[in-house]
Order: sequence, then structure tokens, then C-alpha cells
Amino acid sequence: MQNLLELTLPQLADWFAQQGEKPFRARQLMKWLHQAGVADFMRMSDLSKGLREKLQAAAVIAPPLVKFEHASADGTRKWLFDAGVGNGIEAVFIPEDDRGTLCISSQVGCALECRFCSTGRQGFNRNLGVGEIVGQLWHAQRALRGAPNRLGGEIADRPVSNVVMMGMGEPLANFENVAQALEIMLDDHAYGLSRRRVTVSTSGLVPAMERLAQRVPVALAVSLHAPNDALRDELVPINRKYPIAQLLAACERYLAVAPRDFITFEYVMLDGVNDRPQHAAQLAGLLCGIPSKLNLIPFNPFAGAGLRRSPMERVLDFQRRLQDAGYVATVRKTRGDDINAACGQLAGQVQDKTGRVVQHPARASV
Ligand code: SAH
Ligand code: SF4
Repeated sequence: MQNLLELTLPQLADWFAQQGEKPFRARQLMKWLHQAGVADFMRMSDLSKGLREKLQAAAVIAPPLVKFEHASADGTRKWLFDAGVGNGIEAVFIPEDDRGTLCISSQVGCALECRFCSTGRQGFNRNLGVGEIVGQLWHAQRALRGAPNRLGGEIADRPVSNVVMMGMGEPLANFENVAQALEIMLDDHAYGLSRRRVTVSTSGLVPAMERLAQRVPVALAVSLHAPNDALRDELVPINRKYPIAQLLAACERYLAVAPRDFITFEYVMLDGVNDRPQHAAQLAGLLCGIPSKLNLIPFNPFAGAGLRRSPMERVLDFQRRLQDAGYVATVRKTRGDDINAACGQLAGQVQDKTGRVVQHPARASV
């Protein structure tokens, strides 16, 4: 059975051709599936009855199943999806006045073991398939349609206006599936999101950044977290393979094709670790010459992390120093932390396959 959620438009057209159908049916089906959110072939009224029956026999629309759903007091919603054999992945919707952002997962766990990340702490199980990645958006768009927003009005027909690949996993370590999922998100017959409104966040897999630039150059966020290699080696171990100079050179090349004229650098604020005035000064020197926006993320603690969040006055001081050096620097608002939906708190459920002894972090209590 073919899961139609995992096919890009050209793949769907090929599939229809193999079924002896006209390829333009693919466009019709994409609209029913991704725009109208219809999961029942019999409701696809502009397809002939014969075709609908054929679809019913040969295809399915199979998003990952929802295990739990949580709604935060601030309007944030979180879904835990089944990822098979005791595994789960999470997606979070963050409504704001002018947009609705869905944060989605790309892997069950993550193999990169960043010190401050609870997903990394859980180890790696597997890559998500295209249908599982797109399925998070498909489900959220349907679930949110018509739901009242924070201001008491109605959310528009397409409540998810932005997608960020900042949930569980390293998207560029699951390159092919993520690239296909992005193609579906951008397709006008599906979600029609602009490349500026879809962001891939990476810890810095340099060769895959080049591939992304060539294949689907969406907006890019880079998890920097340290202004020098010695510290970054500790916090983001992939730095030992692709050190800062290589990473920043890749960012500059990415900018040539990026839909936005800057790179977002994420910087998690860890008390006494990377939040000192000298770190701010070093960071300002490091990024000089690269059009950048800095996004400071107050660390969201989880049990056993052994790290603390920087006090807010230090975060604001760090921000001011960067601003004084001429940078756009914002502090990420913590949203949904009452339902463990904040950055780095998406723990899902991961059965580690890497053979490490994994201590499952208890859900964070901030
Ligand atoms: N693997 C990708 C995307 C997922 S993580 C990446 O690393 O970029 C999304 C963002 O959340 C990253 O910037 C990551 O560093 C940050 N993050 C991870 N754990 C966090 C925590 N405990 N508190 C705050 N931010 C965290
Ligand atoms: Fe993986 Fe990103 Fe977490 Fe690092 S921060 S362990 S790359 S998910």
C-alpha cells in the first residue's frame, strides 16, 4: 500500500501514471490531501468513482498516530506521535499574533549528543520517514483549523504559516527524507509555504548544508552556542568534525542562495559556561562580516542535565553587548514550558539503538 503523504508532486504523478491514470490527477489529489486535509478518498468529489475505488484499494493516507495532545495556558499545543515499538516524537504549535509556527521533529532521538539537549541525551533510534515528517504538519493543520486563537478570534484557514525543523533530531542527518518533506511543504499544490517561512535548524553538518543549498534552500538557523572551538567541542561534539571556521564558511556560501539575507545563529544561555562578557565579545568578533541574527535561548533544564539557565539579567546584558556591537540579537521567549514544549524539552520516547546506556531524563521541572 502506498502512503500518499510521503510523495512529492512528481512522485505522485509517476505513481498515477503507473496506475494508468493521467498525471494531472496528482495535483488534484495533493490539494485534497494537504490543503483540504481530507483523508477519505470517497470525499474527493472531482475524482471519478472508479479512480476513488482504485485509490482505496492501492493507497492509504497514513500520518503518525497521535498518542497524547497537550494544550498550554499560553496557547501552545503539543502532540506526541507514535513512532512504533515504544517510540514517540513530538511537534509543537506556537501561535503568535501575526503567525503560527509549527516546530517539527526529524528523527527519533538524535545521535549528536549535545550536552544541553534532552533529545541528545536519549540517544538515537531511527530517522523519520517522509510521511512521518509531513504527517506532523498534516495533522496540526487539520487539528488547528477553526480553533479559536489566543485573541479569541478564529485562526485562519491555514493556521500553520511557518515551519521550523527544531523539534527532535538533527534534520540534516536525515537529509533525503527531510529534503523531500520540505519539497512537499513548499509545493503550491500542497502547503505552499514560502522558503522564507520554513527554517531548518542544524548543529552544523557542513556537507549537508551544501546539499541543502543546492536542493531546497530554505531559511537556515545554525546552533552555534559557543564563540570558540574549545568550548564548542564540549557543548556541540560535532564541532570536532566540522569546526567553527568550516561552519562559518559554509554559512557564507549558503547565504548566496538563501531566501533570507541573514543566517540565524542560536545560542543557548548556560549559567557560567558561555554567558560571560568575554564570550559576547568573542562572538561579536567571530560573526563580523556574516549577515546574522542572534537568537539567545535561555536554557531549559531537564533532570540530570547538570547545567543551569543563565539568570535573565545576564541574558539581557549579553544581548545588549551584541546589540552595541551592531548585531540584531533577540531573546527567545519560552513558550509552553508548562507542558514541556519549550526548546530542548521535547523528549518524546526514544529506545536508544546505539547501545549506549541511556538514562532517560525525567520530564523537566523548571
Ligand atoms: N538538531 C537541530 C535542531 C533541533 S534542536 C539543532 O541542534 O539545531 C533546536 C534548538 O534547540 C537548537 O538550537 C538546540 O541547540 C536548542 N536546544 C536544545 N536543547 C535545549 C535546551 N535544553 N534548552 C534550550 N535550547 C535547547
Ligand atoms: Fe541533536 Fe540538535 Fe539536540 Fe544537538 S541540539 S543533540 S543536534 S537535537
